[in-house]
Amino acid sequence: MLSAINLHKTYRKHAVQVPVLRGLDLHVDPGEFLSIVGQSGSGKSTLLHLLGTLDRPDQGEIHLDLARIDNLPAGARDRLRNATFGYIFQFYHLLPELSTLENVLIPQMIGHSILGWMVKARGLRRRAEELLERVGLKHRIKHKPRELSGGEMQRAAIARALVNHPRILLADEPTGNLDEDTGREIVGLLHSLNRSEGLTIIMVTHNRDLAMETDRIVRLTAGRVEDPPELAPTPSISPACT
Ligand code: ADP
Ligand code: MG
Repeated sequence: MLSAINLHKTYRKHAVQVPVLRGLDLHVDPGEFLSIVGQSGSGKSTLLHLLGTLDRPDQGEIHLDLARIDNLPAGARDRLRNATFGYIFQFYHLLPELSTLENVLIPQMIGHSILGWMVKARGLRRRAEELLERVGLKHRIKHKPRELSGGEMQRAAIARALVNHPRILLADEPTGNLDEDTGREIVGLLHSLNRSEGLTIIMVTHNRDLAMETDRIVRLTAGRVEDPPELAPTPSISPACT
């Protein structure tokens, strides 16, 4: 469904060039829960930004359902992005002055004129409330982010990412700021969304155990995808074969 073909990306600052992606290929199937691992600085966030059309590759192509999406004009790209991708990050990025419910509604507010918003506000609000219930935050709807735990803030961020019905969730170290048990709960929630809604998920993580539970692990090395033999789930060997 989502394919990256021969992606190259180099950051340039003053005279310094930092080549990050060097001919990366990746194909993601619909409904897949994929993890991306690799050393710090290996280009994991860069890859998510390119896949989610937040940035453009220097060379190479990104295809969604066989249509090229990396070279769309800005307006079409923004519409495609809002309709297709949801994002969650390590540091949640909730707006501190808004309640949990209002934070979840932000992507919807941005997509509507004031009049359009007034007409549809009730239905959209209901959708946001349903999502907050889905992520286990119904009792925190009116709370401000500072009144939430880290795990609760990430749940709110997940609800916000889902409010526009994305097909693909891009998660950049979503458990990086959480304790082990809470991180496990958050990834458990992602698994349940993946199974029940068929949501495609691409998750960058440093947590080997959490990566092992996903459908597939890809490791970034030297700007490309490497086979990760030491991380790949080993086929179970029955005692009769040993
Ligand atoms: P990862 O997420 O795997 O830690 P990143 O994709 O964030 O890696 O970054 C890859 C490399 O690119 C790093 O060396 C980083 O310093 C550099 N980099 C990332 N973003 C920028 C930018 N906007 N400008 C310049 N260099 C950047
Ligand atoms: Mg990163």
